[in-house]
Amino acid sequence: MTTGKSIANPAAAELAGRLGGQVLRPGEDAFALELDGFNLITEHDPDVIAVVDGAADVREAVAYAAARRLPISVQATGQGPSTAATGGLLISTRRLRGVVIDPVARIARVEGGTQWSEVISAAAAHGLAPLSGSSPLTGVIGYTLGGGLGLMARKYGYAADRVTAVDIVTADGRSHRATADRDTDLFWAVRGGKGNFGVVTALEFELMPVPRLYGGGLFFAGEAAAEVLHAWRTWTASVPEELTSSLALLRYPDDEPIPDLLRGRMTVHVRVAYIGSAQDGESLLAPLRASGPLIADTLAEIPYTGSGEIYTYPTEPIPYHQRSMMLRELDEATADRLLQLAGPGADCIDPVVELWQLGGAVGRPPEVPNAVDHRDAAFALATVSLPDGRPPLVVDGMAPWGTGRRFLNFLAGPDTADLAEAGYEPATYARLAGIKAQVDPDNLFRFNHNIAPRRPTA
Ligand SMILES: Cc1cc2nc3c(=O)[nH]c(=O)nc-3n(C[C@H](O)[C@H](O)[C@H](O)COP(=O)(O)OP(=O)(O)OC[C@H]3O[C@@H](n4cnc5c(N)ncnc54)[C@H](O)[C@@H]3O)c2cc1C
Repeated sequence: MTTGKSIANPAAAELAGRLGGQVLRPGEDAFALELDGFNLITEHDPDVIAVVDGAADVREAVAYAAARRLPISVQATGQGPSTAATGGLLISTRRLRGVVIDPVARIARVEGGTQWSEVISAAAAHGLAPLSGSSPLTGVIGYTLGGGLGLMARKYGYAADRVTAVDIVTADGRSHRATADRDTDLFWAVRGGKGNFGVVTALEFELMPVPRLYGGGLFFAGEAAAEVLHAWRTWTASVPEELTSSLALLRYPDDEPIPDLLRGRMTVHVRVAYIGSAQDGESLLAPLRASGPLIADTLAEIPYTGSGEIYTYPTEPIPYHQRSMMLRELDEATADRLLQLAGPGADCIDPVVELWQLGGAVGRPPEVPNAVDHRDAAFALATVSLPDGRPPLVVDGMAPWGTGRRFLNFLAGPDTADLAEAGYEPATYARLAGIKAQVDPDNLFRFNHNIAPRRPTA
């Protein structure tokens, strides 16, 4: 096996000499391993990989690419790829890990390649919890820059709403510390504008005083989809903001390692996270438990460290597209249309069709404005489909009830690469494109849900 330090290309060898981490080139065993990510739908094919192990490495790597006008891509877990990186420099942040908790200020500082599982366990030692989402394996930075719709979203808002500082290396190779009072345009843009503005080397954000949840899932047979969906729809209108839930129509294949309960059949899964006592949780959940014949019920009081069990997503790499559409409301007609498209009788083969209840704190603007829109949406619809070449029938079919906007974090795969603009209101997108023109005029950070630089017209 060759090592990153033995690369042939002189320019890349020079970069290798400047990095604490590694430089990898095509043909090396470690190159292919470093490209491995969770969603196999995208195959990145960069000219060179910089495996960074600190902010100084990121500055060196970006400066190297900027001097040569090479496009730059960033990968942590590979959970959220859009367009494949072809050529240029890929910065792998996997070694850039670390969490420091200030328990008095209730702030976490995390390095640029950290996963939620690391923050969850570090925060739990102080009785605190982050605004993490359905999977503890997701990268904190990619998740948060795309908004971050978490398990406690209705109570505390999007993860991006609670960010207090961003350390970022922009396309000129310079580090910035953006906060509510410093580099304010960049601070606004990066919280929602995803990976368009540079490489985040560290993020600081609030933690919540939530050591325990009443959480888990209710599973029903697919035949009960209509009763359960309608019951969930009316129930969500009455639940407090302490309760965030989603409902999924699951069609998992009959394969290992999918749990027996879910394999080779259609099921309905209601996922719940309630910040409150088990007793109150039980009474809140009573109407839903009665909405159809249960095939499993995992709801219980759990430590926040167990929150990764609430959802049932696979943890092994697979190829899939993910698509989304924000919905204005979920009235009877909307739910009936979804059942037509994805209910038990439908010609739907998508493994996951899910609805997340929004409202509460995600429906209100944050204290420090950011680029996350969707405050008007009542539900988020997301689908996961296998690469079978079918058009996105469910999401397209629900368009009449949509706000016209997509949730960027629930878009994955090259088919969604052109949908960045649909992630924002027109004024938000125009401001993002203007800031992009200032901080990345050559659009070096383009292998993402890309916001193309656009100078504001006079
Ligand atoms: C199983 C699963 C569950 C999920 N659950 C949720 C959920 O509950 N809520 C939610 O909101 N989203 C959820 N997501 C979506 C997830 O938040 C996005 O896919 C996110 O982009 C993943 O980020 P990553 O860094 O892990 O992935 P990567 O594919 O490594 O990165 C995706 C993109 O993020 C950007 N990025 C990553 N790191 C940096 C950095 N240091 N600096 C600059 N840009 C960076 C880059 O543009 C990169 O292309 C889930 C995804 C999966 C696969």
